[in-house]
Amino acid sequence: MRYRKSTVFVLSGLLVATLGAVTSPTAALGSPNTNQLTALAAPEPNQVQDLSVKQADGFATLAWTPVDGATDYQIERTLLDAAGTAAGPATIVGVWRPGRQINNDEPTFADAGFNPGDRFQWRVRARFGTTEQPYSLPVSGVTTAPWGDPAVPGQNLRTQWETTKAAQYTSDVDEYAYTKTIDELSARVRVVEIGRTVLGRPINMFVIGYPTPPATPAAVAATSPLSINCNVHGNEPGDREACLVMARKLAFSDDARTIDLLKNTTVLIVPTINGDGRAANTRGNSTGQDLNRDYSLIRQPETLSFVQMVREYRPVAGYDGHEYGNSSAGDLPMLSPRHQNVARSIFDESQRMIEGHMYEHGAKDGWWPCPYGCNGGGNVGLGEETILRNTLGLKNVVNSLLELRSSGGPTRPDEGNTANNRRRKTYSAMWTFNEFLDYHRANLNGIKQARTEAITFQSGNSSRIVFRGSHLIPAHPAPHPGESPPPANAPTEDQILDNPPCAYKLTEEQYNGARTDGPGGVGFTVAQRIRAHGWKVVKVADGYVVPLAQPERGLIPLLLDAQGAEELVGGERIYPTGPVRHNGPLVVSGVTCLADGTVNGPVTVRPGATLIATGSTISGPVSAAGAAGVFLADSTVRGPVSITGTTGAVAVVDVQVSGPLSLAANGTGADLPLVAGNTVNGPLSCAGNSPAPVNLNIRNTVQGPRSGQCAGL
Ligand SMILES: [Zn+2]
Repeated sequence: MRYRKSTVFVLSGLLVATLGAVTSPTAALGSPNTNQLTALAAPEPNQVQDLSVKQADGFATLAWTPVDGATDYQIERTLLDAAGTAAGPATIVGVWRPGRQINNDEPTFADAGFNPGDRFQWRVRARFGTTEQPYSLPVSGVTTAPWGDPAVPGQNLRTQWETTKAAQYTSDVDEYAYTKTIDELSARVRVVEIGRTVLGRPINMFVIGYPTPPATPAAVAATSPLSINCNVHGNEPGDREACLVMARKLAFSDDARTIDLLKNTTVLIVPTINGDGRAANTRGNSTGQDLNRDYSLIRQPETLSFVQMVREYRPVAGYDGHEYGNSSAGDLPMLSPRHQNVARSIFDESQRMIEGHMYEHGAKDGWWPCPYGCNGGGNVGLGEETILRNTLGLKNVVNSLLELRSSGGPTRPDEGNTANNRRRKTYSAMWTFNEFLDYHRANLNGIKQARTEAITFQSGNSSRIVFRGSHLIPAHPAPHPGESPPPANAPTEDQILDNPPCAYKLTEEQYNGARTDGPGGVGFTVAQRIRAHGWKVVKVADGYVVPLAQPERGLIPLLLDAQGAEELVGGERIYPTGPVRHNGPLVVSGVTCLADGTVNGPVTVRPGATLIATGSTISGPVSAAGAAGVFLADSTVRGPVSITGTTGAVAVVDVQVSGPLSLAANGTGADLPLVAGNTVNGPLSCAGNSPAPVNLNIRNTVQGPRSGQCAGL
């Protein structure tokens, strides 16, 4: 079998080469190696064999059999006319180096930058040091034209960037017109304005599902959606053009893959969060703020809009598109969320997406993903929670940064031509985002599992707090893409708080007082920002309490602790008080924190009081009537739990309940009562709560019936 297989491979390689030679008249090319006689003769020493070229959206994947002793390979491309005659110079457009892929014995190169739809011939030659070896036989083909039948409405839309052949980027006006037309013509698409920029430009989001997108943000959230943020830095527009073209294909293509993807999730695409910066071609927004240093602090309306969108639509995975000015880096530097407060499960799953999927598929399709920094990248890719990659990780979203190498550099030497350079960047972004969709489709269970583990871990508030510092990213095993992972960026002693508080308390002034850190010296209040993040808050007699026993526990101290590197406000740390072991009934008044505690008896939460219990065992029922807040996480209750009439916030996460769990008539206003990941040995019943409880798609295990508002949890 093995012999037969390899014979077939060689024959098919020869066939490709022969066809290539036949379709491209060789006299015009003036090369002694490309006539048909040579194709049928024995190969020259060290000549590249078995060159194949596979067309895809905006790029062509070249593959060949390695030549022993080659140190690199040069890729030559020649424009052909319709008759197959050379219509331009033969140009070295690519240099393959071993550092670009994880399996060097199957070299591939994604050639891109050409105008899609044109016809080309390719040849590849090995080099030993600087000594050039003979070229392969040529292969020619017509590249894949921009997606969409020009005769079919919707499909025939083209961006300004496409119609000008990358001479112009799509303007704001053209983007809005294109977006509106897709919205009108495709039942699969709803375009939502998630906010406005400082200067009043709409920030739109494509919500794409099949046959139609779910009707509400909560219904979208139930599909475990994924999000692509295409253009936060206004002077890095390459990803945005990819997003606009992708949106058209998702909206109108009937191919099996697209339908399958959209039947199983909802795709959220924000093409331009920084419309003012894009219009001015500046990195920051109109105030000069780098928005990718603002996703935690949300001083600006653009970042506030995005964070609110994440709260409402709850993407489980994300990509954030950029361009990167290191010409020696790979095509596609990527990086996971790595702030050390990011749950290990989210970090690991993001790493699996990058190293397990992107590196592997990059090696098949010829693209060069690598760890951000990649080759001599310097002190980049650290743990600032202000960066979307980290903010999303702290919101339990599997995600990655994407950087498109801005200049061609030594491995893409033909990109002095601006249009070629722009096309390579945009089509490499499109490849990445499509791979991201495929990863989400194939690995949703793993993503959801990572998210479940992260939310239960965070709600348990059991580990140290790190204010700044990163999870370590070791070098990928050799041969690795890129020479260097990003710096270790370990936290220093003064960036670590070993004993986490149970909550932060803010004064009225801190919570609702005027702020001056936004545009024009006016800012959103802390209360508005906390609401945008979606954190649970309890109003108490002398201020506001933000417990750490909730899903975004990793992010809360970075903003509310005075020790935070870029804190929003210096709240008061609230620590557990009183004995860790309590015998007899416990009556809670005021704010009571129970961390790793044991109560041998029932717990009663009095009206207006707040209970925050983590890692605890309570041998007796827990009952709260008219409490201000009830937080139970990572705990065991040997008895029923009854929570009624709470006025502030409710969270019950990862709790073993021996008996019924019931929530009734809690009127918590903006707070969605959270009932997630619990094991209930009895019925789960919810009635008359406003709003209704949610489980963030983390199912409870319930022995008895689930009823009322919790029937689906
Ligand atoms: Zn950027």
